[in-house]
Amino acid sequence: MAQRILVTGGAGFLGSHMCQRLIDDGAHVLCLDNFFTGQNRNLDIFKDNNQFECIEHDIVEPLSLDNIDQIYHLACPASPVHYQEDAVKTIITNVSGTINMLNLAKETGARLLLSSTSEVYGDPEIHPQPESYWGHVNPIGIRSCYDEGKRCAETLCFDYHRSHGVDIKVARIFNTYGPNMHPNDGRVVSNFIMQAINNEPITIYGDGSQTRSFCYVSDLINGLYSLMNSPDGVTGPINLGRPVEFTIKELAEKIIFLCNNGSEIIYQDLPSDDPKQRRPDITLAKEVLDWEPNIDLEEGLSKTIEYFKSINL
Ligand code: NAD
Ligand code: UDP
Repeated sequence: MAQRILVTGGAGFLGSHMCQRLIDDGAHVLCLDNFFTGQNRNLDIFKDNNQFECIEHDIVEPLSLDNIDQIYHLACPASPVHYQEDAVKTIITNVSGTINMLNLAKETGARLLLSSTSEVYGDPEIHPQPESYWGHVNPIGIRSCYDEGKRCAETLCFDYHRSHGVDIKVARIFNTYGPNMHPNDGRVVSNFIMQAINNEPITIYGDGSQTRSFCYVSDLINGLYSLMNSPDGVTGPINLGRPVEFTIKELAEKIIFLCNNGSEIIYQDLPSDDPKQRRPDITLAKEVLDWEPNIDLEEGLSKTIEYFKSINL
């Protein structure tokens, strides 16, 4: 019988790719979303697919479902612009929402994978970041609702595992980009591409010397899938990301080059607590999951630019 798999945040960027991957695999997919940052457009492709169901629901409200084998727990706004819009709601989503999903896993015996984040390392003092690093997070800043929310969600997973035997997997995802990101998402790759294809100035925050390591979505989805299907006892946390680092200025220049237009670069204020550098140490993912990304930045950006051009008509 086909596995029944719940994807919270299934209408979002990563969630919609996860739904596609699981449908291709023969699973019956239940997508759960409150459409805060998710898009109907991302689900159009599944409209007539009898392997797919969408439940409009906010995970801060408890939910009862039968016969669930796996839960990919992705629901949470991921862009700083959106998670800061209602910071208290972001914390509730990460804490109460994760408790609700862990209770569902406990009731049904489902395995739960949490999409945690590199933000648990905060503005890191160790570089690159291994999973053993406990992080350098401001608990009271404007990013804290997300960073501390995710740290608490990780804690909840491990406490449900220790206290109730819930089968958990924790992925720490580093900056990921690709088709199905919202054009107004506010994250750097979608901002720069939308600005470049509309001939608007590219907005670099700060001097552009801060770094990020960008992973293309298909690589990341392979990593999440491998972690979910890894042997019992592998709980993570495991870093998933592409360990190649670029400055934000280099990213802007690459996107301007690939879009082949003359957008100028303008410099704006750097938001507070913006991490200065970020790169995953993926030794563990290589060893335990035999996983590493293989799409380089230029190839991934080209596919993403094509996508944004196709929806920008
Ligand atoms: P996204 O904003 O595109 O998707 C999040 C989805 O969750 C949206 O569909 C949104 O409507 C839904 N959602 C938010 N709050 C909800 C709630 N209370 N109830 C039900 N649904 C809710 O973001 P994404 O990039 O697809 O991120 C997915 C997950 O991966 C998030 O948990 C995020 O923290 C994590 N993550 C992503 C990245 C990345 O680079 N994309 C990096 C680290 C971690
Ligand atoms: N950034 C930028 N211009 C933008 C959007 C973001 O320079 O239009 C910068 C942001 O300040 C940060 C980096 O790009 O240093 C990545 O930002 P994003 O919001 O994508 O993710 P995060 O900061 O959570 O890694």
